[in-house]
Amino acid sequence: MRQEQTATYFPPLEERNCPACGSSSRTGTLSREGEFELVRCCDCRMLYTHRVRGIAGKILHYDQMARERVDTTSGLSPAHYGLANQIKAVGLYESVLQFIVKTIQAGNVNFVDVGCAGGLLLLAAQALDGYHCGVPPRFNVRGISIDPRERSETERNVGCPVLFPDEAASAWTGWADVVTLMNVLEHVDDPFQLLGQLRGILKPGGLLVIDVPNNSVVSLRGGLLRRWPELDLGEHINHFVPSTLDRLLIRAGFVPAGRLFGLYKGVESIAVAPGLRTAARWLGASAVMLATMRRVQLFAHMTMAYRGGSGV
Ligand SMILES: [Zn+2]
Repeated sequence: MRQEQTATYFPPLEERNCPACGSSSRTGTLSREGEFELVRCCDCRMLYTHRVRGIAGKILHYDQMARERVDTTSGLSPAHYGLANQIKAVGLYESVLQFIVKTIQAGNVNFVDVGCAGGLLLLAAQALDGYHCGVPPRFNVRGISIDPRERSETERNVGCPVLFPDEAASAWTGWADVVTLMNVLEHVDDPFQLLGQLRGILKPGGLLVIDVPNNSVVSLRGGLLRRWPELDLGEHINHFVPSTLDRLLIRAGFVPAGRLFGLYKGVESIAVAPGLRTAARWLGASAVMLATMRRVQLFAHMTMAYRGGSGV
């Protein structure tokens, strides 16, 4: 029999406690996707995947995705995979950058994007007001990544320094006015540890902006009907709702500072116009958010702002 080509060796999955509160008390398996299982924390109600790839497994997995490019980026070189994958998020980047500029109206902004992929958000931050001859950008940009490929792609595309989280935590203490985590925290094995590192990188009272999928409707329906949709449990391992995200951030020393409206067009594509169902959901979610003074957020994604504590 012909031998198959040697497959990439993936390290075994790693077991973990609740990523929001640290508790080991959890429900049985709520749903299963391949080797990944969804559970709920009995203490804080956080939904999460309890056996995860771990950092070494993730790096191998992302590298395999960039090499194989079985999606619409297959015509590109692997070196541009990260950048190409960010383009669908330009609407999100626009709304987050507008929020930052409105919040910090003057002066330079030291800006760090975590999980910076190909560096598109960092590039956008440098071209915020268009190009003006002789005027330097307001934003000084840096990146953080766990992935060596992502790191070298961002360094090449943006020309800015990119460090691993633990390196950044010791080298950039108290440097940043703003840190962003765009579609990153749902992938992180130990979000509490990462948030602690980011709090150290921020100036006291600095701004942290997070965008993650909002699992409010999924969580409610799953609890009532015991029916769970496909959640990509291997990739998305932390399934936040606004309250579990707030609780995690408060535990890590942050103060909630605002909730942005969900995007009308979502973050899936720049060319697809929203269908009737998406439009109805957006209208409904907007009405609920306004009626509850921003307390109830039902958009498919949630974009949340926090302030670092007053510092130690
Ligand atoms: Zn918990």
